[in-house]
Amino acid sequence: MILGIDIGGTTTKLGLISGGRVLERTRMATIGHNDAGSFVDALTREAKALADKSGAVVKAIGVGAPNGNQRTGRIEKAPNLPWGQDLPLAELLAKEFAVPCQLGNDANAAALGEWYHGAGRGCSDLLVVTLGTGLGSGLIVDGRLLLGPFGNAGELGHVILVPDGRACTCGRNGCLEAYVSIRGILQTHAEVTEDKLIANTDEGVKPIADAAYHGDKAALSTFDKTAAWLAIGLANAVAIAPPQRIVLCGGIAASGEVLFGPLRRHFAMDILSIHSGKVELVRSGLATDDAGLLGAAALVEHHREE
Ligand SMILES: [Zn+2]
Repeated sequence: MILGIDIGGTTTKLGLISGGRVLERTRMATIGHNDAGSFVDALTREAKALADKSGAVVKAIGVGAPNGNQRTGRIEKAPNLPWGQDLPLAELLAKEFAVPCQLGNDANAAALGEWYHGAGRGCSDLLVVTLGTGLGSGLIVDGRLLLGPFGNAGELGHVILVPDGRACTCGRNGCLEAYVSIRGILQTHAEVTEDKLIANTDEGVKPIADAAYHGDKAALSTFDKTAAWLAIGLANAVAIAPPQRIVLCGGIAASGEVLFGPLRRHFAMDILSIHSGKVELVRSGLATDDAGLLGAAALVEHHREE
């Protein structure tokens, strides 16, 4: 049994996973802890309670986290987690449970989850893009997750798309993420409607997607512009590391055809002709609630194969 831990900005999910299925699960708040130490204590308590409840023997732990670095096992200064310093979480959990622990970034975990258990099964090369608060991505190249020398390869969200464009959370301007993310899409919608920027809510871009399905011109135009930007980013990624398939996941991908329709059209125009017609564009094959946990467990599964 693998203990999977999916650390998000507000909620941390824990699950017991076997054979690509989540058998038991629980969740706890990520925020509200005074420091990293008290978060780790709470996480350990929750994990032990979950294992005790099911009577399962945990053989390994997989953790997906923002800014998680698989080369170091640390969460490195994640801007949206409530503690500033690096946290050597893999080492702390391995010691506490006396089992091996693999920690990686959440986008890479999502990529492995789709590759092992979701819409990416059977590919030797795969690009998985998570569209939500930010734009995360994970690349499988020649049958291996691409980590790079510093453990952070494949940051498609921060390729510069527009010179001197919108300010990005990374401190630079014009990154893909500044256009294709919840905040980016809300901003595009505000520009199209010449209206005030609406506050980001739990609903994300769903109200705009709903309006687009009802034929609202501004909403349709917002998705068309978003699709055009995303298509350039994807076509550029394909030029460097062509995958058989691109899987889109996260809340924005759940918008469905209002995004995928224009995206397929723009992508077909932008893709290099040698790759034309060879790269599939599909939606996540995993249930939203399971994706992060299966991804965390897949970090362990992939490590075992290496
Ligand atoms: Zn950026």
